[in-house]
Amino acid sequence: MLYKKSLKDLIELIDKNEITAKEIYESVLDRIRTKDRDINAYVTVFEELEPNDNGGLLKGIPVAVKDNMHIKGKRTTCSSKILENYTAIFDATAVSKLKNEGASFIGKTNLDEFAMGSSTETSYFGTTHNPWDLSKIPGGSSGGSTAAVASGEAVCAVGSDTGGSIRQPAALCGVVGLKPTYGRVSRYGLVAFASSLDQIGPITKTVEDAAILMNIISGKDERDSTSANVDVDDFMQYLNNDISGLKVGVYDKVFKDCSRDVQRSMDDSIDIFKRLGCNVRSVDLPNAKYAVSDYYIIAPAEASSNLERYDGVKYGIRADVFDDLKQMYIKTRSKGFGDEVKRRIMLGTYVLSSGYYDAYYLKAQKLRGLIKQDFDNLFKDFDVIISPTTPTEAFEIGEKSNNPLQMYLSDIFTIPANLAAIPAISIPCGVSDSNLPLGLQIMSDVFREDNIFKAASAFEKEFNLLDKLPLD
Ligand code: GLN
Repeated sequence: MLYKKSLKDLIELIDKNEITAKEIYESVLDRIRTKDRDINAYVTVFEELEPNDNGGLLKGIPVAVKDNMHIKGKRTTCSSKILENYTAIFDATAVSKLKNEGASFIGKTNLDEFAMGSSTETSYFGTTHNPWDLSKIPGGSSGGSTAAVASGEAVCAVGSDTGGSIRQPAALCGVVGLKPTYGRVSRYGLVAFASSLDQIGPITKTVEDAAILMNIISGKDERDSTSANVDVDDFMQYLNNDISGLKVGVYDKVFKDCSRDVQRSMDDSIDIFKRLGCNVRSVDLPNAKYAVSDYYIIAPAEASSNLERYDGVKYGIRADVFDDLKQMYIKTRSKGFGDEVKRRIMLGTYVLSSGYYDAYYLKAQKLRGLIKQDFDNLFKDFDVIISPTTPTEAFEIGEKSNNPLQMYLSDIFTIPANLAAIPAISIPCGVSDSNLPLGLQIMSDVFREDNIFKAASAFEKEFNLLDKLPLD
């Protein structure tokens, strides 16, 4: 059952010549064939292996890629009708780095259209179902990637996180998901949603696998001027460390807004850190309560500008019948975008329009600074800050699709890290009464993924869901 194994274990088995990358690919493909009809984690499955035997660390093991990142020669749909038949003409930097380290690819995973959502329900290619309970959402927007990893339809994946899209679905599917520091991983070849917030990161079964992928995808890239020229050290050295004395801040002000299950999982998580000898204290982020409102000004503003390029001329579909250029734009965009994307474009255009810019966009930018300052203050005294990843377990498919505000609140704990540009991981920390996974978020200061890996790796030894993942 190779599909059940971690990336690390598979690398070792190949090293020992016990298995081949092709056998892994076949095991995962077989799993996709039996499961994906129900789960719908993939937009495109690569039915034929393009082997990679360049001798790199990943040894030809297939990786899944969220369908908003380019793999040259494959289609990139962003789960949108407007890009339904768009074929990528170059590799995203994260993808080419994976290729250079020996990765092959298994397919492109489903997402909320243009990564706008928290449930993978707004995909043009249909909803992804949570493999723990098919009536539930997997989270979003990287719900295809997290459902694939949780169900063995992928060994590991890369996703993107603008307001929580790696961490929230990782939590709701019981896997590990890391949003790196803004600038740590190049965004070149990631289809832009909100450029000042978007980051690519790993989605894996274990913390160790996340470190393996982070070692590969991190680093300065000349093609992305916002990628940071900061040394990338070997993240593997921060695994299995003794974390006694680590200063852990608990953002417990928000526990009262969480389900009973989540509150219980947080109490248990705090106990684990105390048992590990950490110095655990409660902290506050006074401005974080405004983070969702802030994000829903900044992200749509940037999105409305980024999505201007889908005009029927440069990329994707074009309306068939039109009288003039303006009508062509209108018809193409009306037909090509779904409701949530249109909502964001309207919100974004509104807050950027003259007369409203100062009242909304400028004010939101100032608030973003205050949220960042809250974190700066805390990281003078703390190594990591923990919180739940989500306020509740995975909800029913359809439960929030007609209530955008409720949907937006699913990211209430993840959004602050994007606004502050800091790294944050979600790791499994419990199971609800109805047997759905729950996630713990661990945040650290910019470029301090070392602390995140230390804390997450030590925690994972005390609690993980590896035996409970829906892999049978
Ligand atoms: N759910 C949030 C949104 O809808 C975040 C999405 C993301 O991180 N890509 O915008």
